[in-house]
Amino acid sequence: AKVAGKNCYRFYSRAMDQAVERRVHLEHELRGAWDRGELSLVYQPVYRVSDNALLGAEALLRWQHPEHGAIAPSVFIDVAEQSGLIETLGPQVLRAACEDAVRWSAQRGDREPLFVSVNLSPRQLRSGDLPRIVADVLGDTGLHPRQLHLELTETAVLGDESLASAMLSQLRDTGVQVWLDDFGTGFSGLSHLRRVPIDGVKIDRSFIADILRDPDDLALTTAIIAMAHSLGIIVVAEGVEREGQYELLRERDCDLAQGYLLGHPLHMDEFQKLL
Ligand code: C2E
Ligand code: CA
Ligand code: CA
Ligand code: CA
Repeated sequence: AKVAGKNCYRFYSRAMDQAVERRVHLEHELRGAWDRGELSLVYQPVYRVSDNALLGAEALLRWQHPEHGAIAPSVFIDVAEQSGLIETLGPQVLRAACEDAVRWSAQRGDREPLFVSVNLSPRQLRSGDLPRIVADVLGDTGLHPRQLHLELTETAVLGDESLASAMLSQLRDTGVQVWLDDFGTGFSGLSHLRRVPIDGVKIDRSFIADILRDPDDLALTTAIIAMAHSLGIIVVAEGVEREGQYELLRERDCDLAQGYLLGHPLHMDEFQKLL
């Protein structure tokens, strides 16, 4: 048993070393990735449920590494967050997304302008610079503030409520919309919605995935929609993959939806074809 334990420990520590090594390697590679053109944004269309109108898109970051191929955002965003790289990468993403949204608007002419949603990581929210960065990017790109939606996770916002509320108020003073992402996963409860100044909530994909099978998930989704509406908050369902889910969401009065059923994340030139 002793020997096995020792081997086991060795194996464990080697696996750990490798994980640490891989992180350090990724961090190093990520550092210059934006300037080398390895990072790009794709846009997933967001539709109004009542009439299927295209209202905007969520910007999602992609990393195509020359040797390792595509690296999942869940992996490299975490590396960027932990290492602090997100403090430079985040504003670059924000600027690029706003520039693209200005291009769509020009292309759409007189029709209702589309919004672009940009994900912000918790670290960006904690940095006091965020409202200034947002104001600068809006000023430089000329994007109308109402066209920019910032997505913050429920846990990031509710982790430190007083800090977050002050920050959210400052952000909303710039005229942008603030949305709570991955809503329902943080177990913070619907009552928190009353206390934070937000425009919309995005119901997490894990609930939408099961609304056809799991009565609890449907009940929760229905409750979120009703509660949000009573507070004047917009509701987005993410991860809609089946017609049945979409129909059920329409029945329950959900405002907006995105998911593979409606549209995959697209490169700018492909997305422009939808305009
Ligand atoms: P998220 O913000 O919840 O983004 C939605 C994720 O769900 C995206 O994964 C999207 O491709 C995926 N998705 C959309 N529709 C469906 C569907 O119908 N079914 C399924 N199974 N998945 C769907 P992605 O692009 O891999 O991004 C993962 C996460 O990485 C995002 O989750 C977000 O938290 C983070 N992320 C991506 N881009 C950025 C960014 O620019 N900044 C920050 N801070 N985080 C980002
Ligand atoms: Ca998001
Ligand atoms: Ca989400
Ligand atoms: Ca479930």
